[in-house]
Amino acid sequence: MQKLARETVRKTPAAAEFLASDDTHFHNADACPALVLNADYRPLSYYPLSLWGWQNALKAVFLERVNIISEYKIEVRSPSLTLCLPSVVSLKTYVKPPKYPAFTRFNVFLRDAFTCQYCGSHEDLTFDHVRPRRLGGRTVWDNVVAACTVCNFRKGGRLCDQAGMFPRQKPRRPTVYELHDVGRKFPPNYLHESWQDYLYWDSQLQP
Ligand SMILES: [Zn+2]
Repeated sequence: MQKLARETVRKTPAAAEFLASDDTHFHNADACPALVLNADYRPLSYYPLSLWGWQNALKAVFLERVNIISEYKIEVRSPSLTLCLPSVVSLKTYVKPPKYPAFTRFNVFLRDAFTCQYCGSHEDLTFDHVRPRRLGGRTVWDNVVAACTVCNFRKGGRLCDQAGMFPRQKPRRPTVYELHDVGRKFPPNYLHESWQDYLYWDSQLQP
């Protein structure tokens, strides 16, 4: 079976020969990403939500790296095969998430929930070195916070005491789980119904 699947992949590189055909809500296959779950049925990531384009999802199916949990109604065809696009897949092998996330601009913003740590604004975000660089402040998790350009300018190169401006949360390195928790506050605009059972957003449960 595995051999057969691998040969199928060779004949249909990256599933590129598949043609979309659908008359459902989704007009084309490109609008049908698959939600990717770890082997424990939790999403690999919440924000951005772990989604694969249909070509990558099908490739992983053929390589037997994932199980199909749920499918769209939309079908794709190759010369030899017709199948439904997966809407939810789960990895066959559990991938242990790293304990700590990478120190990136995006992850700093995410840790701070895209909120200026001085005034609470969500607009025009940039970064502020809590201890200014000119005073030896480093670009590290516990010295960088999200700040709007107005606050950033106002604080200038001063220390918090001098500026009378203090971050709402003392910056520190978050764990991956903590970032997931923040990410749950930002659900994408559209969720396919088949994803709902695997996602837990910060929304009130209906009684
Ligand atoms: Zn601000």
